[in-house]
Amino acid sequence: MNSQISEHIQFILNQLAPFKCKLIAVTKTRSIAELQATYTAGILDFGENRVQEMVDKQPQLPADIRWHQIGHLQTNKVKYIAPFVHLIHSVDSFKLLKEINKEALKNNRTIPCLLQMYIAQEETKFGLDKQELEELLNNPELSSLKNIQIVGLMGMASFTENTAQIKTEFQSLKNIFEEVKTQKKGEKAGNVDWQEISMGMSGDYLLAAQEGSTMVRVGSKIYGAR
Ligand SMILES: *Cc1c(COP(=O)(O)O)cnc(C)c1O
Repeated sequence: MNSQISEHIQFILNQLAPFKCKLIAVTKTRSIAELQATYTAGILDFGENRVQEMVDKQPQLPADIRWHQIGHLQTNKVKYIAPFVHLIHSVDSFKLLKEINKEALKNNRTIPCLLQMYIAQEETKFGLDKQELEELLNNPELSSLKNIQIVGLMGMASFTENTAQIKTEFQSLKNIFEEVKTQKKGEKAGNVDWQEISMGMSGDYLLAAQEGSTMVRVGSKIYGAR
């Protein structure tokens, strides 16, 4: 098992080598032994989508692991991950941002966040559209949130085999990113710094890297089907 995990990780890292793109191992549903093997293979960035699972696993593993919250986050769960979470990829409302700020302050730290954009064709509940992004960045209260930092955008492409469509969706996220970065949107609030685009999963991470992703979130390609 361990040698397979390590081989899969090496394979992916080799593919990503030409790009400035970080591999986040999506460890949801995987055992502590599998996470340990991932750490031994040299990966320090772990992505979980459920708060309870992240909170259970974190104390059982080395302290230098960087925990990424990649799944939808309810405001009432923020407090559990606020002491240690490295990056929250799935911020999709100002209310959630305020809650993260509040809990970060209690822990005397700043929590980096990505704003999740809705880029897929299909019906999903989560993510901001462009207008909602503008509204969030123009919220006059944003500058008062001293304990969060918005560092980029996240998106999930449609669940489809249609590569052309996935590519179009990645390009739309990249375009929005370039626009906010060029126009320095939100930056006068003092807690916005456009650096990261989190896009790409097991089926499409290479395409995502080619289209400008800086972080791919890969699970089943490392560990097998869930
Ligand atoms: C599960 C998950 C992934 C990884 O999915 P795989 O297809 O296993 O690579 C990436 N991003 C999010 C938000 C997820 O929930």
